[in-house]
Amino acid sequence: SHDGNMLTGALEYKEKRVSDVMTTLDKVFMVNVHTRLTFTVLMSIYKSGFTRIPVYEFSRDNIVGILFTKDLILIDPDDEIEVAAVISFHGNSESGYVQTVSDSTTLDKVFLEFKASYLHMLFAYDATESVVEGIEHSEVISPANMESNHSSSKKITGIITLEDVIEAVIKDEIIDE
Ligand code: ADP
Repeated sequence: SHDGNMLTGALEYKEKRVSDVMTTLDKVFMVNVHTRLTFTVLMSIYKSGFTRIPVYEFSRDNIVGILFTKDLILIDPDDEIEVAAVISFHGNSESGYVQTVSDSTTLDKVFLEFKASYLHMLFAYDATESVVEGIEHSEVISPANMESNHSSSKKITGIITLEDVIEAVIKDEIIDE
């Protein structure tokens, strides 16, 4: 039952939004697309412990791809290749472009998207501060608000992964007991 809940004010996950559970941009471990993968850089990436490393160019809110830590295994640090070479070489569709979602989208809709796609990380943008050309902000996740970020007009404010959504769902169920 949701009435008389012990934790009053605790939102159901269906009422929670991306902005409630996302990892804000300032806390995201990311790399510049022109960074050279030296031994030191490779070590810092491995030590971060993350599976996916957002890749930016010019500024941290301009995401151009995702670096998969597992793709670094065969990299020779002596070659000092650019991050750009790794994300294009592997040609992984998830590295090549960036999927975005409005940070006001509710988690039930984000969960459906994660389930229906191979994606594990989405980039949240502030719908109030972003110019999304010709696209009306919608609560429904559709190709209209799940498009690639090539135009870069969206102000990225954080990341959300499947893990963040599952955690919110599990908390919800525990509170509901
Ligand atoms: P991983 O597989 O790297 O452990 P998960 O998808 O399981 O990542 O997410 C675990 C938590 O870490 C989530 O809160 C997610 O938002 C956050 N997270 C994932 N990748 C990064 C990153 N590169 N920098 C900062 N936080 C991250």
